[in-house]
Amino acid sequence: MSKPFSPKPTKFALDGRETDLLHYIYKQDLQTLTNNPRALLSQIDTYSTTTNPLMNIGATKGAFIESLIKTHKPRLMIELGGYIGYSAILFGAAMRNHGGKYISLEMNPEMAAVANQLISLAGLGDTVSVIVGTAAESLRGLVARGGLGRGGVIPMVFLDHWQDVYLPDLKLLEGLGAVDIGSVVIADNVIFPGAPEYLEWVQASCDVKKGLKGEGEEGDAGLVYVTEVTEFETQFGKDGVAVTKVVGKEDA
Ligand code: SAM
Repeated sequence: MSKPFSPKPTKFALDGRETDLLHYIYKQDLQTLTNNPRALLSQIDTYSTTTNPLMNIGATKGAFIESLIKTHKPRLMIELGGYIGYSAILFGAAMRNHGGKYISLEMNPEMAAVANQLISLAGLGDTVSVIVGTAAESLRGLVARGGLGRGGVIPMVFLDHWQDVYLPDLKLLEGLGAVDIGSVVIADNVIFPGAPEYLEWVQASCDVKKGLKGEGEEGDAGLVYVTEVTEFETQFGKDGVAVTKVVGKEDA
């Protein structure tokens, strides 16, 4: 029997469905799934719709973000919140087409282990890497090691961890100079469960942001953002993906 779905399950422990997914996958025809991201994702979708719902981006919103990757062809994409690796496989495969790299940041080591297993099965081990830790710790580490490459700026960021850390982590990226002119920041679930403070920040003018910025807070209120929210019907009702482009910079 399927378990009730919580969009924000226990933060530090699996409830069993993610390892159960591995058992399900390894019972399939592995020859078909090996080095075949599409076939593997389709099996994960089947598990999620027939057995236990998983908090993956899913096919519809996934295809929307995939089209952004095909348009922008970023050399590097970093996701905050990797879970079992569904988005890392979908977007990693799209990044591989133009020679880009994908880094997935996941704080739960068990989920990261499941993700690594599936990424390897999909044949994406050379394109996708998973870093275990909170996104904030991992991003600070990447910047300190020069792990972001060219200019230390991330061309494409995907926020898909807990919504209450979307804004603090975006401000961290701004303060580190890792989000700058040319960056595209994509955020899932901005309508459901919702990320109102994040949306307020990415939709505000620089003058308004200077007023919103708390004292001592990291962040760069001088970055000029253009944000578009695209709405989707999901199994939980209406949701939205926010796409923010950094188009300029004023003095903060
Ligand atoms: N992007 C995944 C996909 O579409 O396949 C789904 C990610 S799921 C919605 C959210 C994940 O974010 C969970 O696995 C959770 O452990 C992780 N997470 C939550 N807060 C985090 C943080 N501060 N740093 C890193 N990972 C975090």
